[in-house]
Amino acid sequence: MYSMRKIVHLDMDAFYASVEVRDNPALRGLPLAVGGSPEGRGVVAAASYEARAFGVRSALPMARALRLCPQLVIVRPDFAKYHAVSQQVMGILRTCTDLVEPLSLDEAYLDVTENRWGLAYGSLVAKELKRRIYEETRCTASAGVAPNKFLAKIASGWRKPDGLTVISPDRVEEFLQALPVDALWGVGPVTAKKLRALGLERVVDIRDFDFDKLQKEIGSLAGWLRRLAYGDDPRPVVAHRAAKSASSETTYAEDLQDLDRIRTELARLARETAEWLEKKQLAGRTVTIKVRYADFTTVTRSHTLSRPTCDADVISSWAAELLHRTQAGRRPVRLLGARVNGLVEHSAL
Ligand SMILES: [Mg+2]
Repeated sequence: MYSMRKIVHLDMDAFYASVEVRDNPALRGLPLAVGGSPEGRGVVAAASYEARAFGVRSALPMARALRLCPQLVIVRPDFAKYHAVSQQVMGILRTCTDLVEPLSLDEAYLDVTENRWGLAYGSLVAKELKRRIYEETRCTASAGVAPNKFLAKIASGWRKPDGLTVISPDRVEEFLQALPVDALWGVGPVTAKKLRALGLERVVDIRDFDFDKLQKEIGSLAGWLRRLAYGDDPRPVVAHRAAKSASSETTYAEDLQDLDRIRTELARLARETAEWLEKKQLAGRTVTIKVRYADFTTVTRSHTLSRPTCDADVISSWAAELLHRTQAGRRPVRLLGARVNGLVEHSAL
């Protein structure tokens, strides 16, 4: 029996790029990347669908993006603006239910089993969420509706942009039967290759495969994948409101293995956080990094400074320092985050 929860995964389409196009219609239809300079070590933070057609995607070095697409239009990110739109979006989601779990600025899970709108079907809730978001922000979102988080997340990516995919409980099995292993959340290209080498092409093939052998190949991820192969994901939607902190985090499509790359990524996140603090005229005392390994275990490491700062160099160097206290580089990493809390107004310094 599948759980009868109704979970929605809501994901804004090419979020930063869409906000930029909305505010500058001359950019519409162009291959657009939001991110750092190609001369420095800038990376793509978001790419429009026109740019994606050239292979430009998030986390790609901007210089390489420009080689893939010489006519690429590059716009510098305005994180204060994205945070503002994000708050608008999360506000809309919370008119439906308090059970909203933001994953990043532009993505959230909702448990709409019970909802304030009194809608019986998750699909109707998702449609209404999408409509209100577009009406208020002029940006589109894609939604997935399913009995659990893992399926809802896959569903939201199914028909992007402006998509809506529903996996009703009686269609879960049919859906799983057709799902290739690399569609699983947590399976990057490296793991997918290992699974394929074992003859595991589809998610459901994992069910009958020798568990010890699987564990030997892909480590602690094995147990999790076997649960997912049965469509079993009991993780609840955990509501949390924006804390009194500034943070930036990224989940990588492909696990990061290389320590240099991990350092570069973490520095980028720390700088994004610092930039946001500066725009908001805030400063904070505690720098925290978050590292989620490929097997989904997550660690945080913190350092509290003697006085508040919004200095990007200070924040990113502490983030780098804290990284030494993790196993990043020795274990593959799927998510990185940098956060500053203990915020005070600049004027209070
Ligand atoms: Mg998105």
